[in-house]
Amino acid sequence: MTSEFDPYTILAQVQVRPPSNSNPISPPIYQSSTFGSTDADTFLAMATEPMHAGFYTRYGNPTTRAFEDAIAMLEGAEAALATASGMGAIVAALLTLVSSGEHVIAQRVLYGGTMGLLKNIAPRFGIDVSFVDQTDPEAFADAIRPTTRLMMLESPSNPMMRLTDLRVVAALARSAGVTTIVDNTLASPINQRPIELGIDLVMHSATKYLSGHSDVSAGVLVGSKPTISAVWEKAYVLGATLDPFAAWLALRGLRTLPMRMQRHNETGMRVAAFLAQHPHVENVNYPGLPGHPQHGLAERQMSGFGGVLSFEIKGGAATAEAVVANLNLAHRSASFGSFSTLVVHPAAMWAGMMSAEQLLEADLPPGLIRLGAGFEAPEALIEDLDGALNKACR
Ligand code: PLP
Repeated sequence: MTSEFDPYTILAQVQVRPPSNSNPISPPIYQSSTFGSTDADTFLAMATEPMHAGFYTRYGNPTTRAFEDAIAMLEGAEAALATASGMGAIVAALLTLVSSGEHVIAQRVLYGGTMGLLKNIAPRFGIDVSFVDQTDPEAFADAIRPTTRLMMLESPSNPMMRLTDLRVVAALARSAGVTTIVDNTLASPINQRPIELGIDLVMHSATKYLSGHSDVSAGVLVGSKPTISAVWEKAYVLGATLDPFAAWLALRGLRTLPMRMQRHNETGMRVAAFLAQHPHVENVNYPGLPGHPQHGLAERQMSGFGGVLSFEIKGGAATAEAVVANLNLAHRSASFGSFSTLVVHPAAMWAGMMSAEQLLEADLPPGLIRLGAGFEAPEALIEDLDGALNKACR
């Protein structure tokens, strides 16, 4: 019998065969949700090895592993776990490290999503949270209880750019047997390496500087192999897995991180110095400025100060809104760490969800604007800001 034309089987069997003796310079995207093996023993080994990168993509994936390995090396950590967003990493860490009846110490000011998790979701799982002033290491020490398992830190914190003394807090937590996690999103591993300061776990919203092109939602958590493996055990059940194409984009962006951070650092510093002397600006929050109340600490624990700063406009919320509306180069957007300058008026953004008192408690004064400098010429940005300030405040 002549074999019949069978397009179903032909298409089901198509494979990519890597050419021998030649390697792709850019890594392939393993856009496969599942992986096969030729024999039962290998299949069992793949299925049961923690964090295997070639069994089932929710458990691990080769492209995602390349991104994870790169971040682990940049942060000086043993292992990393990539997640579908920064929040995915924070939730997986919290639900792994803390159980019902246990206690977390958190900074009073943390990214809004982290705050929502700690204030609205953690209590439903029987997790108790104490909030402390991040600028006072003693406050962390005083809040420790026998049930404390985790300290949740963010430095610099978003958007007031306050710092936590990571070395001091890490030491006091370690002596009490408490795990520390720091959100390093605003610094990036180019400007701050918390593991070297004694911190146990570092997380990032890789949506920001790490991927750097406003085209990926991703998160990553780094730390010791046993801890990352323990978080992976929960994360793959929670389903917070990063998609391989997003991992590939994030790795592609990550390759230029050092150059991008240098540009962000230079522009951030120039824009902050300009705003600090502007007659319509009340104050500027940027750890690189000598006038920042924690500038000495910034110099000790950071090697650059990034592209994010916030500044308060004389005249309050309406004037801040007018400044944002009058900008031409900077886009009104909720993120930062992009090629383009992004600004946000946090009090307006959160107004629907928080009262005026809650906004102040969250360190969001009405006239505050956050700016994440992009790669535009610093002179052009400064001219844009000067024009918008003079127009809005005349
Ligand atoms: N941490 C910080 C400091 C952030 O600014 C954000 C997002 O804006 C997050 C965490 C959450 O990251 P994602 O949006 O990737 O979930």
